[in-house]
Amino acid sequence: MALDAAKKLRDEGQNISELARPLRAGKQAFLRQEYEDAVRHADDVLLGCEQRALSPSKSESGLTQRWTVPETPKAEPPQTESVRLNPEQHGVDDWRQKNWVGKRVEPQIRSGDVASEDIQLVDSKQFKRLCRLILERLGYSIIEDGAAGPRSKPVPLDFLVSGNEGRIVVLCAAYHNRAISVAVVKQLVLSVAAHSAQGGMLITSGRFSPPAIEHAEAMSALGTTIKLIDRGFFAEMAARADIDLTDGGQPLLSTYRVSDAVRSWGALGSYMDGVCDSSPRPPSTMLEQIERRLTLRPSFKVTYDVEAAVRGRGWDGVIDRISVSDGTMFLDGVSGAELDESRATFFTALEPTPFSAANFRELHPAWHRFELDAAGAARKAKERIASHHATTGHWWGNRGNVYYGTWQPSARDITLKDIALVYLPENHVRFRILKTVYELEFLEHPSGRFEPLGNALFECRVCGQLISRKPLLCNACGKIAHRRKHGFKCKTCKKTVCQNCVRLAKGFLLRAPICPTCYRRR
Ligand SMILES: [Zn+2]
Ligand SMILES: [Zn+2]
Ligand SMILES: [Zn+2]
Repeated sequence: MALDAAKKLRDEGQNISELARPLRAGKQAFLRQEYEDAVRHADDVLLGCEQRALSPSKSESGLTQRWTVPETPKAEPPQTESVRLNPEQHGVDDWRQKNWVGKRVEPQIRSGDVASEDIQLVDSKQFKRLCRLILERLGYSIIEDGAAGPRSKPVPLDFLVSGNEGRIVVLCAAYHNRAISVAVVKQLVLSVAAHSAQGGMLITSGRFSPPAIEHAEAMSALGTTIKLIDRGFFAEMAARADIDLTDGGQPLLSTYRVSDAVRSWGALGSYMDGVCDSSPRPPSTMLEQIERRLTLRPSFKVTYDVEAAVRGRGWDGVIDRISVSDGTMFLDGVSGAELDESRATFFTALEPTPFSAANFRELHPAWHRFELDAAGAARKAKERIASHHATTGHWWGNRGNVYYGTWQPSARDITLKDIALVYLPENHVRFRILKTVYELEFLEHPSGRFEPLGNALFECRVCGQLISRKPLLCNACGKIAHRRKHGFKCKTCKKTVCQNCVRLAKGFLLRAPICPTCYRRR
């Protein structure tokens, strides 16, 4: 009886399988298109699940492994009766498995590779797994995994980890398009106390509400460090763990284009040719490359509105308004200080591009990390915006009285519209011109325009003072020098020479400067 039923099921199954073939092909094509190697991937995931049970050592190789934790995913489709009875008939099952995997593609990390993941496609369980993988890769060791223990705990806990900062309670909240409320932060604080940990970390794929940020700040001030990781900061953590995170296809981290080394040296050469008085050889022909380093400076690009009223005894109690819409400001990602004028104007004019760790691999950048979290960034941004838009002056009241002073918008007057995490690429080069070594920092426009930072090329190597006019480059030793004062032109061959190299020929009235070559020839 049972066998009959099973046979019937099998027959039906085969029919379904036949009918489903074109549909299946379509799906697979779609998957292949959408997720590139999702189909091959599907096999990997399934093979991985089976093999893991057999050889646990395979999942312990850490970094190079997929980020699934060693547990059989619960979403695996239940094996149907018909399949179990007919081992040769895989059609429906294959289709289901591929379909299932297609929905939940997980990044596969080959060694030295960067995976990509979209936060909008990640469900709550996957988000936790992703968090665990990233924490592990960043050097935290997992002491306790909340998913492994009993679910009915009085205080919430996803992971208890230990790192440089001590024991930390981690909560993960996959709230893609919502703000985390203050209640969650309070729960985390409770959990930190209950686990006698040193601090807490709240990771979300969304954002934090302003009260949540305020509460975390207050708790940190009281000694319980609560780190708030919103989606931007999570993307930053992910990038460090070789995963490029996007949000509905939109990049969460951005940077500015960096040109390759060749163009960079070329830009430096032509810049120096334009800046220095050098004869007979232009500086670019004497430039000897020593090294080029790229630094990725962490920075916040803040977009904000300000609507503030300067109050006094005006006719409606308002004597002036400070009104800004869509202002932008760059803050340093480490100190929260406003970026200096030259960098800020340079980068404000440029359009950022998505950041991917893979793009920077070969350039071996010094990749500095963000020290501020979401709460710290918001607080610093408000402080800086307030002081940036402070107005000093005098205002006339309605009775002819004058107000003097400085007004600045309060925190409530400022609306933070966006705090984007961007890496500002800066170049640091060391090069030699004849016998002189130069170190220079510069920014580079995508068009190749060159923007030096600091005064390395405008510092007289003879007296050490700043050169305000066109500097002279000695063609004997390669030093930059003050023109006329510490740098001269050979009377005979017009070669530019610095004071240290110049020779003086006895003339009738004046001692004429001549170069060492001409001096020897006399
Ligand atoms: Zn000088
Ligand atoms: Zn010289
Ligand atoms: Zn000469």
